[in-house]
Amino acid sequence: MFAFMAVFILISSYVFYKSHSRYGAPPYDAQEEQASNTFSVPTDIYTSWKRPEGPIKIGLQAGHWKTNEMPDEQNRIKESGGGTTGFGIPEWEVALKIAELTKQNLEKEGYTVDILPATIPENYWADVFVSIHADGNLDPRVSGFKVAASARDKSNNAQLLKDYVERAYQKETDLTIDPNITKNMTRYYAFNYRRYVHAVHPMTPAVLIETGFLTNRHEANMLIYNPEIPAKGISNGIKTYITEILKPTI
Ligand SMILES: [Zn+2]
Repeated sequence: MFAFMAVFILISSYVFYKSHSRYGAPPYDAQEEQASNTFSVPTDIYTSWKRPEGPIKIGLQAGHWKTNEMPDEQNRIKESGGGTTGFGIPEWEVALKIAELTKQNLEKEGYTVDILPATIPENYWADVFVSIHADGNLDPRVSGFKVAASARDKSNNAQLLKDYVERAYQKETDLTIDPNITKNMTRYYAFNYRRYVHAVHPMTPAVLIETGFLTNRHEANMLIYNPEIPAKGISNGIKTYITEILKPTI
């Protein structure tokens, strides 16, 4: 009987771990690799591409915000995409607040800034796209932030944008870099223009930032009560990228 119970407890805690360990991770399309229903994107979309005229445009996505409004093509992500919770605060709320403050900082520079929910407008193009998330883990000691560039980038600038955002974010927040970049991040659904129309345009330099762990007291404290700090980190990174990389080309 005891042996039976021990096995039962082991199995159920494994199942619990498996179902919760991905809590903070943004939705990733596990079946994407084998999917047959991907679009074939004509290469001239990026080989002969010209940046649209107009002011510098930035898209900031508040991760998991309005997940329930996601389109049918992203139904599977919609079902799994609620995000993490820490100290009673849902991830989308933290992400939205940081996105709003980041927008304020960037608008002072004269840039146009869109705040986007979980649903990306069809074939969305911007000079810079940053998806904002907060992480979660069952172990409250797990900490750190991380930034990932889109694995589907065709602008050749996503990696540079990632470097600038990472450097500025670390400087402002003093958090350590969590090196565990996963496919959940680099193959994030909003980067996947080959499968979804509600995704970024191939020429949009796109990154995803996990701003810290909402399940870690120290980091949650900053994310919930001092969101201007992470917002400053993100906006400073974007500003430097624009000044040093983007502006000389437009
Ligand atoms: Zn998330």
